[in-house]
Amino acid sequence: MRYGIIADIHANEIALEAVLRELKGVEGIVCLGDLVGYGPNPNECVQRIRKLCQPVLMGNHDLASIGRMDLDWFNEYARDALLWTSQVLTLENKRYLEGLPTKESFLDFEIVHGSLRSPTEEYITSTIEAKVSLRLLEKDVLFIGHTHVPSIFFEKDGRMYAERLQDKEEVSLGDGIKKIINVGSVGQPRDGDPRASFGILDTESNRVQIKRIPYDIDSVQRLMERENLPPYLIQRLSLGL
Ligand code: ZN
Repeated sequence: MRYGIIADIHANEIALEAVLRELKGVEGIVCLGDLVGYGPNPNECVQRIRKLCQPVLMGNHDLASIGRMDLDWFNEYARDALLWTSQVLTLENKRYLEGLPTKESFLDFEIVHGSLRSPTEEYITSTIEAKVSLRLLEKDVLFIGHTHVPSIFFEKDGRMYAERLQDKEEVSLGDGIKKIINVGSVGQPRDGDPRASFGILDTESNRVQIKRIPYDIDSVQRLMERENLPPYLIQRLSLGL
């Protein structure tokens, strides 16, 4: 069976719809958090994900948009977008976000937005942070988001490895090596490739594949301009940074 793994949608409905089209026919879709923040369509994204994804995790931007995380934690652009997001989110969607868990398991995997040590805060960007989460990991595989960079972290023969994952790259999950896999971001990729990023899990081959797909970035940027969202956040979408 095939499952979709998505993360960091960030209110980018056009990117989300492009990814959902690619995931047509899958058994289920897992969402690793940050449904909102940065982008122009927070309500649409929450409603779509609420209907289609299970489980869905809490991200730092989700927490901040419902007033559960200090805005000082964020840079000024993210903060401006979060203030706008918290103003436009409906009460019903805020209640849904409020109920999201910070840690879950899914099939035989653990899932979290940031890290096992600090689910909605810590970024796993290097082997240093990865090592801590690998120690806390009870199963063999942990799926994460948060950095917006598709990547893999693992320990082999006493050495730690951190590698970027490219479009169409596959990772074997059944080799007995404990690993952390970041599926990248649907709505705001930051690895220099502006295409939406997500993962497809195949339980028969026991592999996960990273996929990148183009979406209509211009239209998202126009929607962001209309809402007066910070120009820097608008520009970065075309660069994938
Ligand atoms: Zn994020």
